[in-house]
Amino acid sequence: VYAGSITHKYPVCWRCKTPVVLRATEQWVIRVSKLKDRLIEEAKRVKWIPDWALQRMLNMLENVQDWVISRQRYWGTPLPVWVCEKGHTVVVGSVQEIKSLGGEAPQDLHRPWIDEVELKCPVCGGRMRRVSDVVDVWLDSGVAFYASRKHPSELDPGEVQVDFIVEGHDQVRGWFFSLLRSGVIGFGSSPYKTVLVHGFALDEKGREMHKSLGNYVGTDEAIERVGRDPLRLWLLSNTTWEDLKFSWRSIEEVGSDLNIAWNVYLFASTYMNLDKFDPARHPLELYLGKLRFEDKWLLSRFTRMMLKVAESFEEYRVHDAVRELRRFIVEDVSHWYLRIVRPRIWVEEETEDKLAAYSVLYYVLRNWLIAASPVIPFFTEFIYQNVFRELEGVESIHLFDWPSPRLDLIDEDVEREMEVIRVLADKVAAARMKAGLKLRQPVRSVIVFTDKRDVVNVVEKHVSLLRRILNSREVEVREARRVEELVEYRLKPVYKRLGPRLRELTGLALKRIMERQGDIARELLSKGYYELDIDGTRVRIEAGDVEVSVGYVRGYSVEESPLGTIALDTSLTDREVGEGLARDLVRRIQVMRKMMNLELNEKIETSIKAPEDKKNLLKPFIDYMRGETGSLKIELVDEIPEGEGFVREWDIEGEVYVVMVKRIG
Ligand SMILES: [Zn+2]
Ligand SMILES: [Zn+2]
Repeated sequence: VYAGSITHKYPVCWRCKTPVVLRATEQWVIRVSKLKDRLIEEAKRVKWIPDWALQRMLNMLENVQDWVISRQRYWGTPLPVWVCEKGHTVVVGSVQEIKSLGGEAPQDLHRPWIDEVELKCPVCGGRMRRVSDVVDVWLDSGVAFYASRKHPSELDPGEVQVDFIVEGHDQVRGWFFSLLRSGVIGFGSSPYKTVLVHGFALDEKGREMHKSLGNYVGTDEAIERVGRDPLRLWLLSNTTWEDLKFSWRSIEEVGSDLNIAWNVYLFASTYMNLDKFDPARHPLELYLGKLRFEDKWLLSRFTRMMLKVAESFEEYRVHDAVRELRRFIVEDVSHWYLRIVRPRIWVEEETEDKLAAYSVLYYVLRNWLIAASPVIPFFTEFIYQNVFRELEGVESIHLFDWPSPRLDLIDEDVEREMEVIRVLADKVAAARMKAGLKLRQPVRSVIVFTDKRDVVNVVEKHVSLLRRILNSREVEVREARRVEELVEYRLKPVYKRLGPRLRELTGLALKRIMERQGDIARELLSKGYYELDIDGTRVRIEAGDVEVSVGYVRGYSVEESPLGTIALDTSLTDREVGEGLARDLVRRIQVMRKMMNLELNEKIETSIKAPEDKKNLLKPFIDYMRGETGSLKIELVDEIPEGEGFVREWDIEGEVYVVMVKRIG
């Protein structure tokens, strides 16, 4: 026999680092492996969100092990097993059973009192004592679905299955598993119907957050810094089952969405109050036959958004619901609908057209608030109390039923048409950016080159809306091939090929080629060659002899899109320059009104000292500026009189404008 020593690794205590020995001991076990097929069957009956949670569970069940339920510790749920001297055992299931086995139940069923309880062996009549073990904590959590209700023998079948549980993705092998085992062992069925899995909160780089790493952000700190509802909205926007990467910047984006929503309500309520709009007297019903295109569009979008939000909530895809709500209020209401209806609302008289816009806005904003209230409870309640409470009567936003969508408001044609308009607006915005023209600067024309019937129809049908949105005096459609009119070709001769062939004619040929770039390019593109006559010699130019490049004629900024080619006329006449300047001034006068804390209906008088050469450009737009700024009078002056009003100097396109605003009365 050989004896010697070997060096090997051994485990240490996780806490005090003392070496420990692995030792086989006798334990109490539940033979779960016998239930494998039942467990798999039951797991498949559960709705797992997302799907991969089921796959993970099934992978684990394929290799399911027996469940070691005993632990050698003091604290814990005492293992309810009594053993007599001859080795007979009973597993006790209730206080009643303790009594019927001749024991006396203590007040408290935990250790040390339960250890005192002696039973009489039902087989041999001998003395039975409890084993000293406690149970695995997963057994406790595994019976959570009924533990707080009644003794299992008193439960109805319907009471042993809960509708819904939610936990982190690490719990597939933890809690979800221990519950499933307990349910199948105890009642033959899964104890839950639906499982939602959530991710973990990590830092921006995807690492776990730890105080020791310095990347830990506490909930209190986040609430303090960004507020409860922005934090909540941000958390809920994250795909529930994916890990969440914490970043202040992305929370701030959510904050800016809330800001936009806030301004939407502020705008709507300010003007509705000013006009004393009463939704009870002017419900949406009254205006359904009198809606404009953009109203129908908003109502249709709203209805489909609400359907999607409801469906997402029902399927536990909270993040989808939240994203829909955000997108709708930011993109559809603020950036689009309000931009279009503002002029209708700014009209002073009580027109039917204005009331129609109000009734649409009221309907949409009231119901959006209700739909958003579960995810931003404080924000929505605050707005409700300040804007809607008096009109609606109900005590709190949180007491409303879910608004039932009106399917009759869905209009797919209207949505399709508006989608075309939105794409055109995006493309024109890009063309403006390229040409350095702000949206406030009116342009002479926008041309859409397309053969697409639906695009042509939309432009023709909604030309006045398009003029307004694109801020262009003209919007027209031309056949796609006519884009040629704007195209300018450039040729670059390939000397390597031309030189050896033309020899002494080369110089002259190159001169001719450069003179006729457009013609040559067009024929090359259509026929594949071009014949040049050089002092009686015919020279054939072929595709490889020159490189053709395409540009657009100066004066246009062009964008390609799936709808067609969109060209913006960038040449400005006095009229466009004047109108652009007038709009710039309007915006600045409005800023000054704000600085003076003027109410919307307060009137002013305005004096403007403009550069000499701009005065004539501005004159045709004085009326327009008066209307937009609530000015009873606007004067173009040589000098601003001193001490008569609020004066401010502005720089517009590198030139100085002095503006004085005087409050009337
Ligand atoms: Zn230790
Ligand atoms: Zn016995």
